[in-house]
Amino acid sequence: MKKAEQELLKTLGKSPLLVWGARMTGIGFLRFAGKHALNVVGVADSDASLCGRKLSGLTISLPAAIPALKAAHKGLRVLIAVSIKEDEIIGALAKLGIPAADCVRYSEFCGSFFTIDVTGTCNLRCPSCAYTVPGIKNPAGLMSYDDYVKITDKMMGEAGLVSHICLYSWGEPFLHPDLPRFIERTHALGIAAAVSTNLSIESAEKIENVIKLSPDYLKISTSGFYPEAYNSTHTGGNVDLVKSNLYRIKYFIEKHKAHIFVDVNYHMYRNNVGKDLEKMQEFCDDLGFVLSPCYANVTPVERLVNYHEGKVDAATRKFLDLLLVSLEKGREIAEPYRGRACRFLSNQVNINWDRSVPLCCVCFDMKTSTISKDYLKDSLAEINRRKERHVNCVKCMKYAIPPYLMGVNQAAWKKEADRVMRADAAREKKR
Ligand code: SF4
Ligand code: SF4
Repeated sequence: MKKAEQELLKTLGKSPLLVWGARMTGIGFLRFAGKHALNVVGVADSDASLCGRKLSGLTISLPAAIPALKAAHKGLRVLIAVSIKEDEIIGALAKLGIPAADCVRYSEFCGSFFTIDVTGTCNLRCPSCAYTVPGIKNPAGLMSYDDYVKITDKMMGEAGLVSHICLYSWGEPFLHPDLPRFIERTHALGIAAAVSTNLSIESAEKIENVIKLSPDYLKISTSGFYPEAYNSTHTGGNVDLVKSNLYRIKYFIEKHKAHIFVDVNYHMYRNNVGKDLEKMQEFCDDLGFVLSPCYANVTPVERLVNYHEGKVDAATRKFLDLLLVSLEKGREIAEPYRGRACRFLSNQVNINWDRSVPLCCVCFDMKTSTISKDYLKDSLAEINRRKERHVNCVKCMKYAIPPYLMGVNQAAWKKEADRVMRADAAREKKR
C-alpha cells in the first residue's frame, strides 16, 4: 500500500465519517472508502440539486443536516473531498459546529488531482469556450491507448493517493474511439473514471460502449431545452440529439445494469432560465438524472485577460449580453478574494492528448501555457516546480480571474442573477 494511503487511513482511524463533496472527488474517495471498509455515515454537498440523491447507498444531504449527523454519530469527522473551494467549506463547517481539527482535507493525501484530455478537439464551437478564442490555434489530435497506459503507470508510481481520473478537459471524449478502453484501464487500476460530454453525438453504439463500462461519473453539459436558446450558446450542437441520447443512456444503464452518477450540467443564461429550464428539469426528473444548474461564465484565462484589457472580438461581445452575471460584476464579486492562493495551480495536474502539460486547466494556448512538453519525461516534482511564478499568473491574478472562475461567493452570484432576471421579466411585461 502506498504511504499516502497508509497515512490517510491512520488519520481517519475508526471515526464515523461524513464526506463533503458528492461529485468526482467524493466519488473517488467513496471508492477508496469501500475498498478499506471505512465507516462512512453520510455525504453532504452544498448543491441543492443533489440533495436526496443516493451515492454508494448513502443519501446526499445539504450542509444544514450536519449538526444532526454530529449529534447522532459521536466523534464525527468530515472528509472534505473537493478539488477547489476547500477554505470556503472549512469556514462553513465552523459555523455548523465542526471545528477545523475535525476536518480532513482529502487533497493533502492526494497531492494532485489528475485530468487527462484524451481528445484534443471538439465537435462544437461554443462562444464561451477556449475553442473559439480568436488567434489560438492549438494542434488537434487523440491520445493513443499506449500513451494512456504509460501515463497512468507513471502517475501511480509518483503521485500520492490517486482515486479518480477525469478523462476530459477542453476536448469531447466521446470523439475518441478508445474511450471505453481508457475507462477499462482506469478501473483496472482501482480508480474511478469521470467523463464529461456535450452528448451531441450521432452514434448510439459509441454511447452504449461507454455506458456498459460504468464510468463512475458522467457529466452532460447543456444550455437549453429548445433549439433556439441552446444553439446560441452550444453552437454546432443539436439539443434534440442530446435529449434522445439522454433517453438512450437511461436505456443502456438499465440494459447493462451500469452504476453511473449522471449529472446534467445546465449552464444558465438570460435566454434559457424560463420555460427551457423548467422543461429540462421535468425531463431529467423523468429519467432520474440530476440536473445541476450553474451560472454560465466565460473561459479560458486568455479570453478573460483580453476582455479586461479592452480586446473583445464581435462574437464574444454578442455572447456576453447573454450572461446573467456580467464580466464586470463577476470581477467585482471576485475582487475581495484576489490575493488568495490559486487552487487551479496548487492541486491539479492536467495532461493534454499529446502528453504535454499546461500550467492549469483554465489556460488554453499551448504556445504560452505549456510547462512540460512530455509528462513522461519530466518528474511530477519538476512539473510542479515549473508552475511557480509563471508569467501567465501575473495578469490572471491581477484581474481576479481564479476566484471568478471558481465562482466563489455564490450568494452574490445568485443575488446578481436574480436581479437581472427580474429586470428582464419587467421589460418583457412592458412589451
Ligand atoms: S462542447 Fe464543451 S468543449 Fe466543446 S466547444 Fe462547447 S464548451 Fe467547448
Ligand atoms: S493564476 Fe490563473 S493562470 Fe495561474 S494557475 Fe491560477 S488560473 Fe492558471
